[in-house]
Amino acid sequence: MNPFSVQTLGSEGDVEKLNLDAQTRYLAGGTNLVDLMKHQIETPVSLVDLSEWEGASEIEKTGNGYRIGAMVTNTELANFAWREPSLSVLSQALLSGATVQLRNRATTGGNLLQRTRCYYFYDTAKPCNKREPGTGCSALTGMNRIHAIFGTSEQCIATHPSDMAVALMALNASVSVKTAMGKNRDIALREFYCTPGETPERENVLEQGDLITSVYIPAGTRGTQHYYKVRDRASYAFALVSVAAALELNEETIHSVSLSFGGVGTIPWYPKKALEILQGNKFSVQLLEKAIDAELADAKTFGSNDFKPGLLRRVFLSVMLSLAQRQKKQPGHEGALYENR
Ligand code: SF4
Repeated sequence: MNPFSVQTLGSEGDVEKLNLDAQTRYLAGGTNLVDLMKHQIETPVSLVDLSEWEGASEIEKTGNGYRIGAMVTNTELANFAWREPSLSVLSQALLSGATVQLRNRATTGGNLLQRTRCYYFYDTAKPCNKREPGTGCSALTGMNRIHAIFGTSEQCIATHPSDMAVALMALNASVSVKTAMGKNRDIALREFYCTPGETPERENVLEQGDLITSVYIPAGTRGTQHYYKVRDRASYAFALVSVAAALELNEETIHSVSLSFGGVGTIPWYPKKALEILQGNKFSVQLLEKAIDAELADAKTFGSNDFKPGLLRRVFLSVMLSLAQRQKKQPGHEGALYENR
């Protein structure tokens, strides 16, 4: 590991006083950054220690929504969300990620910024455009079983690894940022991540010195919710495919639906085409198939991950049918909702 200096942030108002340059990194839980530093993939000359950041570990619930401090740990957020029916999908997503020990350290802000787990990104002996722009992408013709099918480019096909971000995207969350100049700005999570295009090293819209201060989730009932994650092991594994979904039916019509997919996109994937087909229409298996097939029309596979479109289709159908089934069992939904095939 290279030598580095350490600065400490005591409060949000102190950001302007920091000595920030392109080689400075914010250190929150350190569950990803420290590994990257050990591998010499990240070589900051200066770290800003956020562990003493006052007020950043709080969760505020108002009539309009929830404000989650950037330093709230994944464990704290999962426990909070577990008690809030409208955040159930977030709790499920968080608890499906990493291990207890990691969730106790990992923070809300850090989770959003964790980097891909592409094997070649961590193998400094192999070409990787994300780690070293212009060197090539080893995954394109190599092992790409865990790689993306949406949002890929000829430069990079790595997936974004976060489960939390997938659930937050389904919940229409936004990210609050303090710039190095001390200005505040809010970014919708759906606008936060960048697909690789020609610049795979740029993963989000943050500028140099920008600090995530909190995440905001608007209030809403959102109906029944589910986060379903398919992975190679029962725990401590990243998603091959995951679906975050919330569904609210009015009789047999889809009153509201929220969706996001993990393990399949270079960014947490917001399935715009599928949602446009589903919203406001009569719930049926045929409608679900039409929606997911429209989304999958844009999917591109690379050999070892050829199984992902089919797997995503099956997981999506299973999740949506189970959500409808749960609503059917609730008072006011006595009819046959999807027995029309
Ligand atoms: Fe690097 Fe992206 Fe290719 Fe992986 S998929 S080797 S991260 S450029």
